Amino acid sequence: MDQNILDYQQQDGVLRRIENELQNSEERKRAAAAKSFLLEGEEVIAKTDKKAGDLLVKFQNLQHTLAECVQMSEEYEALMKESKEDEDELSYLNKKIQQLNDTLKKTEHELTVISQQMEETAKNFVAYRQKFGAAKEEYTKNKKKYDELKAAKAGEIKAVKEKMAGIAKGVDKKILERYQAVRNDKIFPVLVPLNGNMCGGCNTELSLNEMGRLKNQGYIECDNCKRIIYQK
Ligand SMILES: [Zn+2]
Repeated sequence: MDQNILDYQQQDGVLRRIENELQNSEERKRAAAAKSFLLEGEEVIAKTDKKAGDLLVKFQNLQHTLAECVQMSEEYEALMKESKEDEDELSYLNKKIQQLNDTLKKTEHELTVISQQMEETAKNFVAYRQKFGAAKEEYTKNKKKYDELKAAKAGEIKAVKEKMAGIAKGVDKKILERYQAVRNDKIFPVLVPLNGNMCGGCNTELSLNEMGRLKNQGYIECDNCKRIIYQK
């Protein structure tokens, strides 16, 4: 196996370590968590808005019912004054007023419940807004730190990439392409030494035919893990 591609992989490993370090940094994780909270928050806010809107409609409808009851009750009382003598009429009106009173009580109770729900929604919303504000701060703070961390590593990353580009010039195009294709699938290391008659990456045994091809070519692709196996 060409030493150049092995050197290339070694530098690639250095690059990978730096990138993993950035990826796994506390700052990046915190910024990402805060960001997803903020994104979810938009949904929560939309839902709360809808709930508050629905409650308000219910509240207004109940108030309307209440006003109607009051008006009808006044009308019944006026009618009662007019029908002083008529027993049947009086008893009918009494019954009606009783029914109205029941509706009034029920409506008042429902209004109280809705008011409480409205208050609760508003309270939750205020609490949520505070959390939302805190998440915004957390995101900004950690994003800034992460960007600083990234900037601090930029020189190192650039140097490794340049080194790799330099080494790549001396590497056979075919094997370099193969290497990069495997690497793009997030597999590392790409090049693994033969281990007895097994793939050094996944320990799958090679057939006699494959062993022969490995000898002739200097390397072979593992059927199982797609890594490039080379003979030391
Ligand atoms: Zn393998």
